Formats: sequence, C-alpha cells, structure tokens
Amino acid sequence: MRMRKKKHRDARIAARADLYFDGSFGMPVFLEIGCGKGGFICGLAQSYPEYNFVAVERNPDVMVLAMEKAAGLGLKNARFLIADAEDLAAHFAPGQVAGIYLNFSDPWHKNYQAHKRLTYKTFLEIYKELLIPGSRLIMKTDNYNLFKFSLRSLSDNGFQILSQTCDLYSSGFPENNVRTEYEEKFISQGVKICRLEASYSFISGTNVMPSAFL
Ligand code: SAH
Repeated sequence: MRMRKKKHRDARIAARADLYFDGSFGMPVFLEIGCGKGGFICGLAQSYPEYNFVAVERNPDVMVLAMEKAAGLGLKNARFLIADAEDLAAHFAPGQVAGIYLNFSDPWHKNYQAHKRLTYKTFLEIYKELLIPGSRLIMKTDNYNLFKFSLRSLSDNGFQILSQTCDLYSSGFPENNVRTEYEEKFISQGVKICRLEASYSFISGTNVMPSAFL
C-alpha cells in the first residue's frame, strides 16, 4: 500500500500508546499480518470481545489509521504492532498465537521477489514457531497466482490445506465473514476472492480457533 506520510503521524501513534502491542497482552492472540487500515481486525475484535487480536503492519502511515479506528471504536481487545513479519519472533513467544490471518498480501509478481511473499517458506517457518498446534492460518486474496503459490508453499512446508475456494462469494461462505478494505474494493470491481484455510499440526477435534471464525 503506497501512502504519503501522514501529518503528525508519530505524535498520533504516540497518542494511542495504550493500543500498542508490547507483549504483555493476554495470550493467546489472533494475529493479522499486514493489516493496512485495520478494518478487518477492528471488525473481528468488535464481533468477538472475548478474544484478543493483534495487528501487525510495517507501514506506520497506514497503521496510524488502524490505531485511530480501534480507538474510535473503544476496542479493548485489539493491539497494534509496527513491525515487519520477518521480525515476529522478536515480539511473540512460541505458542502464543492461536491463528494467523493474511488478507490481500502483496503478490510480488516476479519470481525473484518470491521470498517477499508472506507465504514464502521463510515466513512459514516463523509462523510455525508462533502457532499453537492445531491452530489455523487463513488467507484471502484477489491474486490467483499468489493463491496458487501459497497453496503449494503451505503444503510443501508442513501445513495441511483444510479448505480452499477461488470464488468466496459463490461458495456459500458464512455471513460472518469480515471484509477488509481491499476486499470491499475488489468486490465492488467484480473481482473474485480466493480464500484458504490451512492448519499446522492439525489434529482432528483440537482446533483452537473458535468455530464462529470459520
Ligand atoms: N489487509 C489489508 C491491507 C492489504 S495491503 C486489506 O486487506 O485491506 C498489504 C499490506 O501488507 C500493506 O499495508 C503492507 O504494508 C503490508 N505488508 C506487506 N508486507 C509486510 C511485511 N513483511 N510485514 C508487515 N506488513 C507487511
């Protein structure tokens, strides 16, 4: 997401210091990586006040908007971390994450950029360290090539694909799907949305993600 530097950005982020994730938040947490303007994480946190959510975003100019959105909604169960996904292990302990959401991640079209995709094997190794066994990784994207790449990469790196669709909105998907800002834009353009659910060390019956999320 390209964005101009936001006016008074750092002061605005500092004003929301109570929403900044510092590791002391109740665990386990559900984690969105690359939250952009925060519509998804705020929607989930509002719908499920009994769970804790952390949104990670490396671009402070969009993160400030996500934090202000959460503050405006008075959310108590959402926190925000300005960081690159490659540094997640510095912020979370192993087994502190109950689920990961990747929404409309940058596709990085060129082969030589594949290592930057958030489903590249090096990122999956980091996620595996953080995830509670049996928890899920859920991805939505408009980009079919990224979707195909992700299915392969997840399968090759020890994740089990539990479900997949290349047309989320004709697949009888539950109404409680929370839309992201990018998703709204793509839907309005008639673009089909792909979605997958994967699990690391999935053991039948031990899914720790509340079924309402699925
Ligand atoms: N999830 C939002 C935004 C999608 S755009 C939505 O669906 O509306 C992808 C976002 O991921 C951008 O804001 C970008 O800054 C962020 N991002 C990309 N790579 C990242 C990384 N390695 N670590 C953290 N955030 C990343």
